[in-house]
Amino acid sequence: MSQGQKKTARLQRLRPSVTIAVSSRAIELKNQGKDIINLGTGEPDFDTPEHIKEAARKAIAAGATKYTLVPGTIELREAICRKLARDNDLRYNPSEIVVTNGAKQSLVNLMMCTVDHGDEVVIPAPCWVSYPDIVSFCGGSPKFVRSTAANNYKINADQLRKALGAKTVMVIFNSPCNPSGAVYTFEELRAFGDVLADYPDVLISTDDIYEHVVYNKEQAESFATVCPELKERTIITNGVSKAYAMTGWRVGFSASPAALAKMMSTVQSQTTSNVCSIAQAAAQAAFDSDKDCLRPMLEAFSSRRARINNAFAAIEDVVLPPIDGAFYAFPQVQKIIDRLHADGKLKQADDVALCELMLEHGVAAVPGSAFEAPGSFRISFAAEDSLIDSALERIESVLK
Ligand code: PLP
Repeated sequence: MSQGQKKTARLQRLRPSVTIAVSSRAIELKNQGKDIINLGTGEPDFDTPEHIKEAARKAIAAGATKYTLVPGTIELREAICRKLARDNDLRYNPSEIVVTNGAKQSLVNLMMCTVDHGDEVVIPAPCWVSYPDIVSFCGGSPKFVRSTAANNYKINADQLRKALGAKTVMVIFNSPCNPSGAVYTFEELRAFGDVLADYPDVLISTDDIYEHVVYNKEQAESFATVCPELKERTIITNGVSKAYAMTGWRVGFSASPAALAKMMSTVQSQTTSNVCSIAQAAAQAAFDSDKDCLRPMLEAFSSRRARINNAFAAIEDVVLPPIDGAFYAFPQVQKIIDRLHADGKLKQADDVALCELMLEHGVAAVPGSAFEAPGSFRISFAAEDSLIDSALERIESVLK
């Protein structure tokens, strides 16, 4: 095999992101003139608030165009510490913060530092597509703890305990969850903390990227707030992408013990260096924002969520667990898949074939198997109301 075609063992463990593949396919079909509504992407359809864009313009005018410190400017890291104190009642100092290229890089930095060959990382499923691949890329093995639509896609403390073992180095919590929208309560997180107290060598990675996108309360609980005694082995991942409609700016962060922050910063120093200096200035304005700037977007998500609940409630054999957070609906439809397959409308009786059929009917959705939950699909409602209404009509015509 020639050099250009060689696949390292590392690369062989990495699959391309299914959500990105679905969106690319939708764009390709649109470019061919097909009428496709893309509900595959997890990205707010709102623009970044004006005062945040203004902060970026000011940074350019002031000449903030040079390398910054690898873990981020001191001003931004101080703003993140203020955010963690204000929103999460957690005290951090800038030496414990690493500013990253989106929340995704925080997770990569973390696994690069802590996951070795033979290690296991416990992941409640369904889960965000990238967790298992980042773990595998770093040589570890994902160990899924499965939940069902009937349990509102939540695992319980007993399941967590059974999954922990001698090889476990980390557990990942993501609440609100992408794809299911499940949000763990204070008591549920407390019960996880009580289990983890018995496993002092296990790190706890909490991905709080959707913390502000919740429908029944002000914001979701952060694990370290609920279990402060475990803060010393908890690594928070968060960022501006979802709450502030800033996916393209690529700013996330980790908050962790200083020694680990230093190691993660070393990884970053040898890979990407600092995050774009202008984007850092914008993120600083975001973290120092009044939460009122989030309200119009959250109100829009809330009314779309109501339409989606109504639409799916009217379709027989769809099980749609409550969407308590994030901006996705994740219906379980295996019975419908089986029926469509028996009628000869699907090539195979699975969610991939169903999503292909939906794409033929003009809607791009992501198969549930990409999130370790076969028999379901994910649609994002971070899209304009009129698009959501048309997409729901199309989905209904396939599922009914
Ligand atoms: N974590 C979860 C659960 C996500 O859904 C996403 C994006 O879809 C990310 C992390 C990555 O966020 P970012 O775009 O800031 O890298």
